[in-house]
Amino acid sequence: MALRKIRTEGDPVLTKKARPVAEMTPRIRELIVDMLDTMYDSMGVGLAAPQVGILKRIVTIDVGEGPIVLINPEIIETSGEQTGEEGCLSVPGMSGVVTRPNYVKVKALDINMEEVVYEGTELLARAFCHETDHLDGKMYTELVEGELHRVTYDDDEDYEE
Ligand code: ZN
Repeated sequence: MALRKIRTEGDPVLTKKARPVAEMTPRIRELIVDMLDTMYDSMGVGLAAPQVGILKRIVTIDVGEGPIVLINPEIIETSGEQTGEEGCLSVPGMSGVVTRPNYVKVKALDINMEEVVYEGTELLARAFCHETDHLDGKMYTELVEGELHRVTYDDDEDYEE
């Protein structure tokens, strides 16, 4: 198990566009395992490779239903709307209100480079959007309605990616 250092806001890697993964390699496999370890260690529900300094289109997510690995993810359908608190492991201790689609369908490759399609609502839909945004160098802080605010201890179960 190897934990990677999570880059925080202000690090230029977080505002760059990540490159697609062309083929699975032992190194990328190791990166994915490390991303999952780092995400769980940080109590996050999602992590994108740029957050650990790697500009590749790879995302890990776990909203409490088991790990999801998305390589080269593409949002192919959205509907509805949800407005709620969102946070990010790259903006520690903060959260803000963001409106996202309530339903998201995403197409990606799994760790074996085979095509997978996931559908998510609520938190999972939010995670799909938040993490794919990271791959395009977009931070949720740009979407926050009102002010970013400090997360208090009671809000500790809030969403952190
Ligand atoms: Zn994030």
